[in-house]
Amino acid sequence: MFWGCVMRVSVVGAGLGGLALAQGLRGAGIETDVFERDPGIVARFQGYRLVLNLIGFQAVRDCLPTRWHPLLDEIVMDASAEQLILDPQMNEIGKLGAGRTGIVVDRQVLRHLLLTGLTVHTDAALTGYDVLGDGTVQARFARRDPATADLLVGADGVTSAVREVLSPQTIPTDTGVRFVIGRTPLTDEFAGLSKAYGSKITGDGVSLLLGAMRFRTPPKQAAEQLAPEVTLPDIGDYVRWAMILPPNGTLEDLTAQDAVLSRMEGWHPELRALIEQADPDNSTLLSIRVVKPGERWASGPVTLLGDAIHATSPTGGNGANTALRDADLLRRCLIEANEGRQDLLSAVHDYERQMFEYGAEAVRSSLEKLPAFAPDAKLS
Ligand SMILES: Cc1cc2nc3c(=O)[nH]c(=O)nc-3n(C[C@H](O)[C@H](O)[C@H](O)COP(=O)(O)OP(=O)(O)OC[C@H]3O[C@@H](n4cnc5c(N)ncnc54)[C@H](O)[C@@H]3O)c2cc1C
Repeated sequence: MFWGCVMRVSVVGAGLGGLALAQGLRGAGIETDVFERDPGIVARFQGYRLVLNLIGFQAVRDCLPTRWHPLLDEIVMDASAEQLILDPQMNEIGKLGAGRTGIVVDRQVLRHLLLTGLTVHTDAALTGYDVLGDGTVQARFARRDPATADLLVGADGVTSAVREVLSPQTIPTDTGVRFVIGRTPLTDEFAGLSKAYGSKITGDGVSLLLGAMRFRTPPKQAAEQLAPEVTLPDIGDYVRWAMILPPNGTLEDLTAQDAVLSRMEGWHPELRALIEQADPDNSTLLSIRVVKPGERWASGPVTLLGDAIHATSPTGGNGANTALRDADLLRRCLIEANEGRQDLLSAVHDYERQMFEYGAEAVRSSLEKLPAFAPDAKLS
């Protein structure tokens, strides 16, 4: 056991990486609290479609209790391999390269599964931390009392407050590329768009990317049947669309939908209808920022995972995969320490050594793919 008592871990950030880690630690009997800045769990748009590769999918599976594996399998679908380049009338004008295969999952649905049974404190924005004389670490928050643990994990995304203290020299780069993302219920009206799913539609200096999310069983119903203790969101099939805008493009004062439609004059009517019928609560504008893991710090009772230390461009499709891989690797290293086979700092060091290597590679490969979508992106 961990020095004769139970190890305590504070995880900052209730994104995919932080929650997967917390689930894995909970399963191993390690005391884990999650602190999230948002005022509530569903306080903002979080529900886009992700493609997980086998490493990412296996990682999240291994962090979850085995009794939930049938539910996990029911709420995902296989990614189709075809990736074409189409013009705004949907004529094929090229191929995007080797198709992405993998497992498609809705981020919001997966996040709800990962939240089940965890202690998550919302409205808890970390503002700083102190390493105490006994080697423990005390996290400070804007609107709640400090919390002390044996290990503090910054899983707080690209603007990580934990990283600002632990590794102030690691600063995010704004590529200048913006994208508008949203989703539209998948009805029969859009059957004619199916060849465009997974493809890139190019016109007028912008790219539109479409992807279908089709559930085998609606997630809420799947949970009721397979794991009644889990509550999943009541959502149906949808098409996720994302328009990548060139750097310096103005968005005027438009809604997300109108910003996209203003760049689709003369496009295929079904493509325009898809954006017109989008769900406005699930459409938003995002920036592409990257974090390159640079200099290592001396391993201690504070570490980072996911976008906090290696944020990639979403065009690489590996940000969530890498965050989940971190969560699973750190989980396994901490179990070694908790069971007395290694001390805590060596376990953290082992995790960081491996994470820095594959994390840097994930960022590099995502940036390599960005110019195909945004030729003027700022890469350094
Ligand atoms: C449109 C889009 C599509 C994508 N598609 C894919 C894909 O197909 N495949 C893939 O692998 N990846 C994809 N990604 C990337 C993926 O979503 C992210 O890389 C992944 O979610 C990162 O997880 P994370 O846990 O590190 O951080 P996040 O999910 O960003 O979570 C960080 C959390 O920390 C909280 N937080 C921030 N600051 C504080 C603070 N000071 N105190 C407390 N809490 C704080 C935030 O509110 C947030 O909840 C995509 C991203 C986008 C935007």
